[in-house]
Amino acid sequence: MSYVKCLKAKESGTEYPIEPRTICDNDFSPVEVQYDYDAMRGKVTRESIEAGPRSLWRYKDLLPIEGEPRAGFNSGWTPLIKADRLAKKLGVDELYIKDDSANYPSYSYKDRVVSVAITKAAEFGFDTVGCASTGNLAHSVAAHAATAGLKSYVMVPHDLEEGKIVGSRVFGPTLVKIKGNYDDVNRLCAQIADRYGWAIVNVNLRPYYTEGAKTHGFEIAEQLGWRLPAHTVLPVAGGTILPKVWKAYQEFIKLGLVPDNKPAMYGAQAAGCNPIAKAVAEGSELFHPQKPDTIAKSIAIGNPADGYYVIQHLKESGGFAESATDPEILAAVRLLAETEGIFTEPAGGTTLACAIKLIESGRIPRDEPICVCITGNGLKTIECMAGQFEEVEPIEAKIAAFDTLVAGQSQPVVVG
Ligand SMILES: *Cc1c(COP(=O)(O)O)cnc(C)c1O
Repeated sequence: MSYVKCLKAKESGTEYPIEPRTICDNDFSPVEVQYDYDAMRGKVTRESIEAGPRSLWRYKDLLPIEGEPRAGFNSGWTPLIKADRLAKKLGVDELYIKDDSANYPSYSYKDRVVSVAITKAAEFGFDTVGCASTGNLAHSVAAHAATAGLKSYVMVPHDLEEGKIVGSRVFGPTLVKIKGNYDDVNRLCAQIADRYGWAIVNVNLRPYYTEGAKTHGFEIAEQLGWRLPAHTVLPVAGGTILPKVWKAYQEFIKLGLVPDNKPAMYGAQAAGCNPIAKAVAEGSELFHPQKPDTIAKSIAIGNPADGYYVIQHLKESGGFAESATDPEILAAVRLLAETEGIFTEPAGGTTLACAIKLIESGRIPRDEPICVCITGNGLKTIECMAGQFEEVEPIEAKIAAFDTLVAGQSQPVVVG
């Protein structure tokens, strides 16, 4: 049993059956899964959700699958951390970190979207799945395909971080390195989906894939004790997660599961790839595609597929967008690690750095609950931290040598 009705074009409203599809044939706008919310009322409740598994599948009623999940049995349900030490440092009252660097099995938010897409691929009867990826998606698709027993092709830009390449290859996909940036990879994948009849998770399974991102938002609401943060800061790459966390909040409001506190959404981008932040700063509804140049490679998408909708939701919710330079990103990675013990990749550093700028500029008030969404793990991108730490000289295995080292480290004590 499912509450799914159909696919519907976001612009023209043309309806389509549940099938592999990326966009509407008439107006080329994205298609979105529609649900029967009236039928959910009284059935999809806090209690029904709380009785579910400790994974993203506790929100199965709000996801576009028909039968039982086929992947992601341990994905989602990542920690929501009350970040008091970081809050004190930033001078804010109530700060939370939603930590998808701990997501399973591939340590990024992508395990959410891929769990739904792989389940849908299996439901549709595909035997081969693939993706256009900036790294984390390849890692997640390769891992989930291995668990579900599907063949996989992962397509990535040629200059990806080694951790993401090895992290993907170990699962045995066919890795295709493409000479070009993510936007070139994505264009090629649209052609591959047509020609080979494979399930490319973020192309012809995109409407189902993107729905998985809602679970990041559902979890924030449930883990906060069935309420929404006043301010939510999310990274923007292709523009999937931000609109879908917004949709998740609105669905919970519609179903009466949380009070409507008029949550505001904020987008974070790297200064070296900030088409959305730039458009928002200029008060424009449209963005200009860019050629990315930033260490935050997983969010370096110069022509975001759903960028238009990101701008809409930022405006509609009363939020804003920011961007952060590479040095600001690295400083934020270290701050999060030193205060909260979380090691994120540059995408997470971007989100925190932008949150800090939004707080300091007064866009986000210091006395209202704030959630900063960390979407990826720093152990996959350690080369970014090169040059961040001084060389460590080895010492003799003698206590005297250690004493000298400690004495050299301690600051002189100033009395009085
Ligand atoms: C993919 C990704 C994002 C967000 O991408 P969207 O396409 O905007 O949903 C954010 N952070 C990391 C680490 C990612 O891999």
